Order: sequence, then C-alpha cells, then structure tokens
Amino acid sequence: MFFGSNIIPSEAGVQQGDPLGPFLFCLVLQVLVNKVRTCVPNLSLNNWYMDDGSLFGKVEDVLKAWAIIRDEGPNLGLFVNLSKCELISSSQADACFENFEPELIRIWNGDMTILGSAIGSKQHCENWISQKLDSKMPLLINKLENLGHSQSSFLLLLYCASFCKMVWYIRTIPSFLISQSCERFDALIMNCFENLLGSGLSKQSYMQASLGTKNGGVGLRSSKSHSAAAYISSFFKSKPLVQTFLAKSVVNPHMHILFESFNSLVSADDHLNSSSCPTSQKCLSNLINTHSLNLLVEDVSILDKARLVSCSMPHANAWIRALPAFRNKFSCLEWSTCMKRWLGVPIFNQDHLCAACQSQVMDTFGHHACVCPVKGDRIKRHNIIRDILFEFCSAAAWGPVKEKLFLFPGSSERPADIFIPNYSGGKNLFVDVAVTCPVQHKYVVDAAQTLGYSCNDYADEVKSKNFEARVHEEGALYLPAVFESFGGFSRDLPIFFSKLINSVSLRYDDLRCITSKHLYESLSCALMKSIARSITSRFPEYFRSV
Ligand SMILES: [Zn+2]
Repeated sequence: MFFGSNIIPSEAGVQQGDPLGPFLFCLVLQVLVNKVRTCVPNLSLNNWYMDDGSLFGKVEDVLKAWAIIRDEGPNLGLFVNLSKCELISSSQADACFENFEPELIRIWNGDMTILGSAIGSKQHCENWISQKLDSKMPLLINKLENLGHSQSSFLLLLYCASFCKMVWYIRTIPSFLISQSCERFDALIMNCFENLLGSGLSKQSYMQASLGTKNGGVGLRSSKSHSAAAYISSFFKSKPLVQTFLAKSVVNPHMHILFESFNSLVSADDHLNSSSCPTSQKCLSNLINTHSLNLLVEDVSILDKARLVSCSMPHANAWIRALPAFRNKFSCLEWSTCMKRWLGVPIFNQDHLCAACQSQVMDTFGHHACVCPVKGDRIKRHNIIRDILFEFCSAAAWGPVKEKLFLFPGSSERPADIFIPNYSGGKNLFVDVAVTCPVQHKYVVDAAQTLGYSCNDYADEVKSKNFEARVHEEGALYLPAVFESFGGFSRDLPIFFSKLINSVSLRYDDLRCITSKHLYESLSCALMKSIARSITSRFPEYFRSV
C-alpha cells in the first residue's frame, strides 16, 4: 500500500494493505467453523466475526471445540493468543475451568466482553464504558477545543466524537445498565460545545442544542435520551438473525423496562406497547426529538418560541452542517455569533441603545441587528442572497439578468432582482428577494404560532400586493423570494428551487442531492454570516489593558 512516498508492506495480519484480506481470511476460517459445528454439534453457540469467535455450551463441548481451534487453526493461519482468550462462567466455581490452559483469562461472575461490548452486571457495564471513554476522550476533546477553528472543531465533534462514539454501546447494552456513563459522556460533549461557543448554555439552550437539526437543534444528541430507543430498535432488528443462530425463539426480559423508558420521552400517541417491534432507531429518535421540541416550545418566552419555530423550518439548518470550505467557511467570531443567536444565548450583557442607529434598542440576543436600518447592512444582506441565486440561475443557463431596468413601462421601479427570460410556458419570471426577521415586534406573536409566518406575510403583504398584479399585466410571472433571518423561506420558493436544482444538476451532470446541498448551504451560510457581521460590527469598544 502506498501512503504518500512511503510503502506500507502487506506482509502480516488479516487486513493490512489488502481490502480483500478479511474476506479471504473468513473464507479459509469457515473450514474450521464448519469442522467445529460437525464435530461438536451440541454447542449452544459457535459464532465468529473474523477471528473473534464465541463458543458457548457445556464444559466438555467447549473444551472439545477449543482443542480443534487450537490444534488445527495454525494450518489455516489462525494462531490463538492465550492471553487474549477468556473463559467465562457465571457459576462462581472454577471446576469447569480445570482442563484448560492456565494462561487463559478466567471470569467467574459472568461479566464479559464480546465484540467490544459489555455483558453482565450494571457495575461491569458502567466500568467498561467509563474505562473506554476515560482512556481516549479527554485527549480527543482537548485536541478539538484547541484546533483554532470553531466551525471545524464543531463538525468534528458532531460527526466523529459525540453521539457516534456511544452508538455501539447504547445499541448493545440495555440503557438502565449504562445510564451513568451516558450522562457523563453527554456532559463531556456539551462542555466541549460550550467551550467552542465561549458561553455557558441555559437549560433551554442545552435542550435545543441536543435536538436534531431538522427540529431546530444542532444535532448534539444526548446518548442518555436516545439509549432506550437505540437498544429497542437494535434488538428487534437483529432478532431474526439471533433466532437463526440459536435455533429457537428469543424473548428479551428487559424489554418492558426499555419500553417504559422510551415512552417517558415521547407523546402518548407514540407509546410503544407489548406488541410493538420497532426496528428503526431513526424513527424512534425522531419521535423523541419532536416531543422534546414541543416541550421546549411550551417552556419558553414568546420570543424564543418564534426563534425555535423559525429555526425548525426546512433547510434553515443547512449552515450548521456545511463544511468549512470556500465561502461556507466561518471565522470563529462569525460561527460563535451565529450559534449563540441560533440557540438564544446572550451576545450582549444587557439591552442597550444600538451603537449604529442610536435610536433603537439592541437586545441581548442581537436580534435588532437584523432590522437595524443603518450602515447599509440590510442592503448588503439582500445583495448577497440575490447574487447567490443569480449565480445558480446562471449555472442553469437560464440567462438571468440582475436588477433589470424598465420592466414596468415608464417606471424606474425594479420589481425583479433577477429577471429570468422564458422561465416557463413562454413567460418571463421576476424574482424579488427580501429578508425579514420573525422575532421583530410586528411578527413575533404570529411567528411563534405558525411556521414561516413572517416570510409568508412579507411575501404576501409587502411584495405580492405591490407588484404581482402589475407583473401579470406585463405578461410575466412574479416570485417573491423572502427569507427569514434564521434561514427559512417563503412558501413559493421550494418549487422554484426544485426546478433550479434540477436544471443545474442536469447541466453539470451532478447528482440532484449534491446540487441541492450546495444551493441550500450557500444561501444559509451567506445569510447567517452577514447577520453575524451586522451584530459584531455593533459590539461596544473592547477595553484591552496593556
Ligand atoms: Zn440599530
């Protein structure tokens, strides 16, 4: 195998350097597994994952199988490592271990580890996970926190160092046996997130951060909250296979406790009962997230409610998962400001007179910066969104024209930020871009109740009312493209975006999902970054003592 200018020789072991290695190894090893099955037919279990085998049964059967593996394995390339093999019995008596080699590890109390997961008492399971986490997590978290680029650190935390680290454990060990480890792990992850943010989280912000991005969160799921769902779905998913291995039907005595635990986290309509056998962790987790968002929305102020509703709009979250490349790269200041605004974490110490307009109140969360009329920020924000849309329309070869003049005869009005000739059915399209803020006074009450209230109201009452009829008189189509300051957009845009994504992906022979991700991330990142800049340009002078 080549690694840069180095050559890694493929000389020993199963996997090294050859992707076919594991398959060939299993093929050869199957001879041995079959021989054990034929010669020791009464073993309860003779299961293998690569070179990791489990033999369960009566002492004499296990001993017989063990002798076959030990004596015949080497001819097939399987050499037993005595110090890594375990003899396990729950009988507390060592008589059953008598005829085995003294080097083998002996376990009397039934606490064991199979394929990287613990089986046995609560203490054993908790200790096993703690030991795993304590050995690696502190260093990993420390490296993440000190990477020097918050957006990158966050994405590495989200994708590589948080929930995914616990998935194997919570899918294989009943949640009540590892609840403390999960709690400790979740606290560690959230503490790292707080350090990246530079602020502590309130209970509500903490809850929001642990929601999925589709529910307005940032996707840092709690391993504790999702542990019952993970175990339940894993059990039912693997049940048919387990029944094949054991050649009998399998009943899990813990299931009712896990159902109870899961049911406490979802709405009554979604409760599991004795006849349920869910196999999708994603479905169960979505139910938990939806219920958590509903509880959260009930528990917060009207302003936070409007913010949460707006954050949960389709594609609003695109900036959170965007990779830090080219224009989607956030500076640390931009990222932390956007994240604080998203989660309702204070950005200022107190409400105060806005340093820019000197006439309105800058609230602690920086929401005023979205509507502050001075410094040209609103125009810049509008133009950035318009330019991105223009760029995609150009990529689709639609021949768009920016700010086309004299669309209405005898008038200098510009109802089209982007004019698209022959958009459909021989008609031209006028795309009119605007950004509005759902948490401003005039919208906040309705925006807290209705998804997309502010962008749709603005599209109807300000844009369409003024221009639509007149555009139709010119024989053209009119599209108000109104974005909320958290990234959601007005109801007519999805059809336009779908057509745009289709055209761009056809032209460049790209997958639609790639173009779609590209479009939504570009828009979302540009919007969030421009608002972050509006907020930070209104920061008070920072006194730096020498
Ligand atoms: Zn202002």
